[in-house]
Amino acid sequence: METKLDLEPITLPGVELARPMVIAGPCSAETEEQVMNTARELAANGVKIFRAGIWKPRTRPGAFEGIGSEGLAWMQRVKKETGMFVSTEVATAHHVHEAIKYGVDLLWIGARTTANPFAVQEIADALRGTNIPVFVKNPVNPDLELWIGAFERLNRAGIKKLGAIHRGFSTYEKTKYRNHPMWQIPIELHRRIPDLPIITDPSHITGDCNLIQDMSQEAMDMNFDGLIIESHECPAQAWSDAKQQVTPAHLKMILDSLVLREHVVGDSTKQTLNELRGEIDKLDVVLLETLAKRMKISEEIGKYKYEHGITILQERRYDEVLQSRREKAEKQGLNPDFVVKFYEDIHEESVATQNAVMKQMSKK
Ligand code: PEP
Ligand code: MN
Repeated sequence: METKLDLEPITLPGVELARPMVIAGPCSAETEEQVMNTARELAANGVKIFRAGIWKPRTRPGAFEGIGSEGLAWMQRVKKETGMFVSTEVATAHHVHEAIKYGVDLLWIGARTTANPFAVQEIADALRGTNIPVFVKNPVNPDLELWIGAFERLNRAGIKKLGAIHRGFSTYEKTKYRNHPMWQIPIELHRRIPDLPIITDPSHITGDCNLIQDMSQEAMDMNFDGLIIESHECPAQAWSDAKQQVTPAHLKMILDSLVLREHVVGDSTKQTLNELRGEIDKLDVVLLETLAKRMKISEEIGKYKYEHGITILQERRYDEVLQSRREKAEKQGLNPDFVVKFYEDIHEESVATQNAVMKQMSKK
């Protein structure tokens, strides 16, 4: 199912938004000096769009919640003195009115706000009649429909220059990242709304200035359109998100190192690629047939267990299966964590199958 939106390309006068489109600047505007120093360095390094949070949604009250409208005057100064375009996060109608009054060029809706349809609707209504580009960050929870719903609300209010920011998702499970990238979600967003530009926020995904470079490259390899990266003149002293901000010089290194791979499959590469894809298709048939056979056997085991009064879950057996598959995976040069996860899913399905068999038999 495709989602139909009435979109226009995001354009800013005089800037060619070639891939990757880059937005950079501090997590928060703190002082006029910090904003101006950071902006000057970024502009000197070729950054065209500046970011700074003016109103900051924080987990607990009492943390720095943003400088507020006072910082918008500093953003005006950034525009005037460096020629960069400026962008900030809006979460309420008041923020929208203030940002527009001060000439902010591009807005984004934060992850916590996207998760709240009332808030998104309020922002959409406040934006009615403007033509300002608006980026929408994915909601904190991995819910694609909620993300798409936000684009629909804005689009129905007449906002056509829309873009998505992939900033990762909250999970209970701890990973090396602050937010789990779950690439399949922005990829599915792209499939559903092909004309919507998607940029990645490696700062909020990784939460770690040392991981930004690899994450930015990953985003480019996924063929996304750009990056929004937090950059501060002195990250260690930042009032928010200190661990994930990079200096303007570090940002330049990251951007210079990016390899942009060709995403159009040309004629010469097409044939080889098609052959390789054909191999994958064949192997997938075998994989699926094997999986179907395996499930059939699970069903038989379920019947047998029922007839002999044995419980479905045999923990020792489960542990042994995971352990032996992990070892086999290692021998085959596969990522053992991936293989274990795969078997956990298979096991879950197998238990569900056995449960269904037992229920059915007990009715007879
Ligand atoms: C931000 O960009 O500074 C921000 C608050 O991000 P997010 O909404 O992704 O948490
Ligand atoms: Mn931040």
